[in-house]
Amino acid sequence: MSIVTCQMSPSQQGLQHGIETNRVQFLIVVNVSILGVPHDDNSSFLKGASEAPGRIRHELWSDANNLWTETGVDLGLEGCVHDLGDIDFNGSRDAWALIDSRVDEVLRKHTRPIFLGGDHAITHPILRAVRRHWPELTILHFDAHPDIYHDFQGNPRSHASPFARILEEGLADRLIQVGIRTATGHQREQIERFRVEMIEARHFRDDIDLGIQTPVYISLDIDGIDPAYAPGVSHREAGGLSPRQVINLIQRINQPIIAADIVEYNPRCDISNMTATVAAKLLKEIAGTMVKTG
Ligand code: MN
Ligand code: MN
Repeated sequence: MSIVTCQMSPSQQGLQHGIETNRVQFLIVVNVSILGVPHDDNSSFLKGASEAPGRIRHELWSDANNLWTETGVDLGLEGCVHDLGDIDFNGSRDAWALIDSRVDEVLRKHTRPIFLGGDHAITHPILRAVRRHWPELTILHFDAHPDIYHDFQGNPRSHASPFARILEEGLADRLIQVGIRTATGHQREQIERFRVEMIEARHFRDDIDLGIQTPVYISLDIDGIDPAYAPGVSHREAGGLSPRQVINLIQRINQPIIAADIVEYNPRCDISNMTATVAAKLLKEIAGTMVKTG
């Protein structure tokens, strides 16, 4: 049996988690933060993803649930999770430059940030900043869609294109896509061109070994999950993964999860906030694995 305690050290900003297993004491210093990125200008079909961050936070902090992760980390203890609020896009500054500089600022504080979109386009400027801090990086990307169109409807910043931009700019060493079920001929060509490792939903296995050897960035598009569990998305695609399958895969990661995003939740399409509760649950388990992997 393992016991996890969590207490703040007055001498440092970081969070100390003493994990005691069979009398062996490990000390992991991790500071998880949440930053909302309420931007959906590049959504091709429906707007609304920009309304997601507040709804996910509401479910995360709701008295309906406790804040222990399945893996034994209490995110509810004071100082465990720092909420940094939302990026304000009302000024005249270019959104990509603004996201890049805010993410850079967060990473300079040595926190493990979880970004709440927003649509999937935001992952490109986020990765520009992340890559400067992490010269070795694997992206683990859950999605119904490969999001690797060269451009979509003439927009190179489309939420259907972030991974084309990310790979053109060399912002990751490996891109592993999981849960894909909409790849077109053009996108399959792009996947081959960029040597993407695509695990389509039809080929998913619960015991899959991703062989990750570097720090990991998780990019979680909520529509990677089956719409039976998560209907609040702009592009519902049946035949997806269950939340259980996604959580199990995340919990098996044994490299540091240095940052993550949860994108494409669209509250305008949700039913009884059920997708917000799924997003909050996934946030908890990502945060818990961030703490455990250090
Ligand atoms: Mn996506
Ligand atoms: Mn998608």
